[in-house]
Amino acid sequence: MSEWSPERSAELYQVDAWSASFFSVSANGTLQVHPRRNGDEKIDVPQLVEELSRRGLRHPILIRFSDILATRIETLANCFAEAIRVQEYPARWRGVYPIKVNQQAHVVEEIVEYGAPFGVGLEAGSKPELLIALALLETPDALLICNGYKDRAYIETALLAQRLGRTPVIVIDRFSEIDIVIKVSSALGIKPHVGLRARLSTVGAGRWIESSGEHSKFGLSADELVRAVDRLRAADMLDCIELLHFHIGSQITSIRAHKDALREAMRIYVGLHNLGATSLHLLDVGGGLGVDYVGAGTDDPSSMNYTEQEYANDVVFAAQQACDEAGIAPPDIITESGRAMVAHHSMLVFDVIGVNRDQSPGKLENCVEDDHAVLHSMREAVEEIAPDNLSERYHDLVHGRDEAASLFSLGYLDLHGRAKSERLFHAGCLRIGGILEQMGESVEEFEDLGKLLTDTYFGNFSLFQSLPDSWAVTQVFPIMPIHRLEERPTRRAVIVDLTCDSDGRIDHFIGVGEDRPTIDLHAWNGQPYYVGIFLVGAYQEILGDLHNLFGDTDAVHVRLDPERGYAVEHLVEGDAISDVLSYVEYDRRALSEKVRRTLEKALREGRISIEDSARLRKNYDEGLAGYTYLGGND
Ligand SMILES: *Cc1c(COP(=O)(O)O)cnc(C)c1O
Repeated sequence: MSEWSPERSAELYQVDAWSASFFSVSANGTLQVHPRRNGDEKIDVPQLVEELSRRGLRHPILIRFSDILATRIETLANCFAEAIRVQEYPARWRGVYPIKVNQQAHVVEEIVEYGAPFGVGLEAGSKPELLIALALLETPDALLICNGYKDRAYIETALLAQRLGRTPVIVIDRFSEIDIVIKVSSALGIKPHVGLRARLSTVGAGRWIESSGEHSKFGLSADELVRAVDRLRAADMLDCIELLHFHIGSQITSIRAHKDALREAMRIYVGLHNLGATSLHLLDVGGGLGVDYVGAGTDDPSSMNYTEQEYANDVVFAAQQACDEAGIAPPDIITESGRAMVAHHSMLVFDVIGVNRDQSPGKLENCVEDDHAVLHSMREAVEEIAPDNLSERYHDLVHGRDEAASLFSLGYLDLHGRAKSERLFHAGCLRIGGILEQMGESVEEFEDLGKLLTDTYFGNFSLFQSLPDSWAVTQVFPIMPIHRLEERPTRRAVIVDLTCDSDGRIDHFIGVGEDRPTIDLHAWNGQPYYVGIFLVGAYQEILGDLHNLFGDTDAVHVRLDPERGYAVEHLVEGDAISDVLSYVEYDRRALSEKVRRTLEKALREGRISIEDSARLRKNYDEGLAGYTYLGGND
């Protein structure tokens, strides 16, 4: 085997491809983060994790890098600034952040703070989100886009926000909302900023195709748009129509879909203008800007075949071209890119708490005369393995193993014999694997061998809580160990979580060309082994659920600091067991009391000693107050 190096780890885990230059592998074999991307500042991730542990944070930990968030906002703003400059576009970019993508208070606060220099606003898709936006968005002139299902209270609140100096735009998502807007605004005597959401026939590309097209949940059809204009004209509110909105879905992987949608939307924009809605001056292109989770640059579901700059160029170009042709003033451009703003900034670190692997030494053992014939023939098959008969011998071994299993069931082979058949089978698989490797071929290509030679690493986390899209839509996320990168990872592994659900398993990893069913990890030596899951800042937190009652993880914000390198802010403690129990209506004190009474009874009846009873009570009460994830074993 040739020498291993940190560079080879970087290549293996494809750090350059997915990390957008925010992460790299150090010469010492540790992962480091560059929160300002091309700046000199860097933080050693294992050292940071170590420090966080010393501060009492527990694993798994969600780490948010505030500067990555700031850098992503700047990137988006700069891409539009550049497109506008190059194409001499006569209007502005006025991006908003859709709160639903990550509603955590500290995240939204930071977006408002870092976005302020660029006039970044917020998008609310529900009443609770509107209430968040109303409180947090103080940036002068920034837009507050109001989407989603609306009732009278929602619209009234949005309208009254104008009195606070905010700029709410009420986007008509469903035709019936128009009448409420007309009624409420005239009752309050406030002239609303109205947006119309168009339902495009262009469908997105990628996993969320269903959210677009003729049957999408939101948006007005062409007929409804025409009637909306008529209705507002009749209410003498034609000049309230300021914005046209569309949204073709999230994680649009193909630039073609964006271009098609933009062309159709601009036809509508010009059409509305021609109908008399000449106050239109805002084009809201929704979300959908992708994140290349695997760094492949393709239109595969976890990738994207365009850059942010290309996207900005195309949006500006489409708006410019259509307006020039129609002889109308080009609109300010609003993006609602959420995923692209927040995905990069957070990572989850978990520790490996155990490994299941075939523990047999893999050496070929002898057979004795007493051994069953099936074992003798399996042993011969292993001995005969050679490059030109791999498939044949492999089938012999599979056959032998299966036969041994049925002989065992029928009582013709004892447990020792069955165990030996498994060891012989494993030794054979290893031998075939070794030869394939020497021939430069992948074991994954060879029948079931990849699976058979795969270890199961148990991670101290819940997929359902921290990585729901991995389960729900088989989204691929970058995953790699954060240390030992100077060392060759010798084990082929899948990762499973703490839940007792067989779906709590990661078997899609970044591969060259296509996804890999396994990841190469280092042999677990009983020392803490930390693995990171990256680009988890968008959607993963709030869609997460309490499967098996694993709760929120501890979370922390890390900000670069000119003096100390970095500063740890907003230490957010994850759920205690009593918290998650209360979500499902258990009362901590009632539970504890019940256990206490049962213990008293057991004591009285002499079934438990005083010491053991005290210990169980202590474990119970400490358990209720403790983290839902696992601690150490010391
Ligand atoms: C979800 C959503 C977004 C955010 O989409 P991303 O793909 O995350 O950028 C924007 N606008 C609307 C209306 C949405 O529903």
